[in-house]
Amino acid sequence: MSYSELIHIRERVLPVMIDLGVIDFTQADELRQVPLGTLRRNATRMHAVCRYHPGPRGGSKGIKDVREIALHPVAIEDGWHDYAQFLMYHEMLHAIGHVRHDRLFRGLEARWPNQNARESGPSFGQYLRQRAARWLWTCPNCKRKHHRSRRSNGRYLCRVCRVKLIDVPTGQTHDTES
Ligand SMILES: [Zn+2]
Ligand SMILES: [Zn+2]
Repeated sequence: MSYSELIHIRERVLPVMIDLGVIDFTQADELRQVPLGTLRRNATRMHAVCRYHPGPRGGSKGIKDVREIALHPVAIEDGWHDYAQFLMYHEMLHAIGHVRHDRLFRGLEARWPNQNARESGPSFGQYLRQRAARWLWTCPNCKRKHHRSRRSNGRYLCRVCRVKLIDVPTGQTHDTES
């Protein structure tokens, strides 16, 4: 994971934001001063974040208040490039002062031109959970499998067959050397 890839993503996003009329050239230069980083590799709930410096609760925020924009490293490394750009756009919207996911925010977010990227959140979340899975809860009858981080320990039934799922280790050894 190199910093230059984050810069590359940012430099793909800022010109689009200018084209959309969401920011002007001055704001783009200010956004270039915002530090970029990555989340922990094993994060599964968060895809990206805009972290602000501490300030008054509920106070208005601007680019100067942003401490860091961080993206999930897996979005950058595992071929989710279009989604990584959309994540960067989303966090840049926070950075220019749209703190909450209100209607104005969602309206701006919806203007990102790549529809597939805009709709990739659920599949990326599923990808992260599968990646993190240690266990496959497996139906011995229909063989349906569900990726999970914990064992089912006989507590769950197959929705279709109503048979107890069994725990099969995935054998994944990822994250051991990163
Ligand atoms: Zn957000
Ligand atoms: Zn079944």
